[in-house]
Amino acid sequence: MAQTFNVLRLSGDGVGPEVVAEACAVLEAAGAKADVTFEFSDGLIGGSAIDAHGKPLSDEDLQQAKDADAIFLGAVGGPKWDHLPKETRPEAGLLGLRKELGLFANLRPVKVFDALASASPLKDDIVRGADLMVVRELTGGLYFGQPSKRTQDETGRSAVDTLPYHESEIERIVELAFKLARQRRNKVTSVDKANVLNSSGLWREIATEVAAKYDDVEFEHALVDSCAMSLISRPTSFDVMVMENLFGDILSDEAAVLAGSLGMLPSASLNGKPPTRPGTEAPLFGMYEPVHGSAPDIAGQGKANPVGAILSASMMLRFSFGLRELSDVIDRAVGDTLDAGIRTGDIALAGTPPVSTVELGAAIRERI
Ligand code: NAD
Repeated sequence: MAQTFNVLRLSGDGVGPEVVAEACAVLEAAGAKADVTFEFSDGLIGGSAIDAHGKPLSDEDLQQAKDADAIFLGAVGGPKWDHLPKETRPEAGLLGLRKELGLFANLRPVKVFDALASASPLKDDIVRGADLMVVRELTGGLYFGQPSKRTQDETGRSAVDTLPYHESEIERIVELAFKLARQRRNKVTSVDKANVLNSSGLWREIATEVAAKYDDVEFEHALVDSCAMSLISRPTSFDVMVMENLFGDILSDEAAVLAGSLGMLPSASLNGKPPTRPGTEAPLFGMYEPVHGSAPDIAGQGKANPVGAILSASMMLRFSFGLRELSDVIDRAVGDTLDAGIRTGDIALAGTPPVSTVELGAAIRERI
């Protein structure tokens, strides 16, 4: 049955438009194989929106985002806008979208492709085969808790931040982690600091309750400090790792190192709204984007690695459109291309000339 999906494309700044173009071309090539059509509409976010509208996300583009089946984003930011106050900087557009769309779960898979195991700063035999997913709670915890302020009295300066979680916030993200584990290798690690923090004590309690409903999935708790060590000493022992906002911010960046280049990594930010489109299996609404930023140092030079964006497009097929087989096709094409030694400069083999963003995109499309 022919299917059409409406995707809002927010290419953003710097290398954003370069990698988004390749990802969309790959989507179209994959869609053509399965009678699936993508209707792309374009909006502005970040610096490009500031230049056009005076703010990093216009009301019209926010509405377009709400109406789309999914959102595909490049990257935001750059030195041109660094002097602006925090509320009007490019990143505020991203935060606004996450908040308005209720994107409470950030998924960052890290897969070490065999061909790239030696590109990691860690030893080849440690990272080879690593394939994990960090599931980070995105809308609660320390980054949003009140009070969060600085004060001053006669004794000196003080500051406070607050780490609140309601059981419903913990339950929905841990549930999601278990559902994801069932689509992967059936293991969940819940990360906390339950030996010290009350918020982590509640997190552990709720995670244990949710785990009881998924007795087919292997489950473990890990303290965030020792987990940070395990992540680089035995990364292959993890599958899905679920944690609160701050821990996820830190551990997902640590995990990113495993893959060898920032340019390789995809991400999804999801909410739990049921699909709006009858007849699809689509379980989740989401925004998909590569992990890297706008990379102003290489923007406009055709050097950006498009794989992070292309794998983000693959995640969109899997999670928002229920097209798992097509997602597998893209993932395999990426692996085959890397195996063939076709790589951008960030992951190029010594002595082998790197290809451009467009050439790597084309090589992946050829293998679909
Ligand atoms: P960055 O991710 O843009 O770049 C870090 C390094 O990685 C650079 O050397 C860059 O050349 C390299 N790199 C990044 N993406 C690459 C790719 N696809 N292929 C090859 N190499 C790649 O981070 P930064 O330099 O700290 O930030 C630059 C701008 O991006 C800043 O304005 C920052 O605020 C913004 N930023 C945006 C996002 C986002 O949009 N989600 C995330 C991080 C940073």
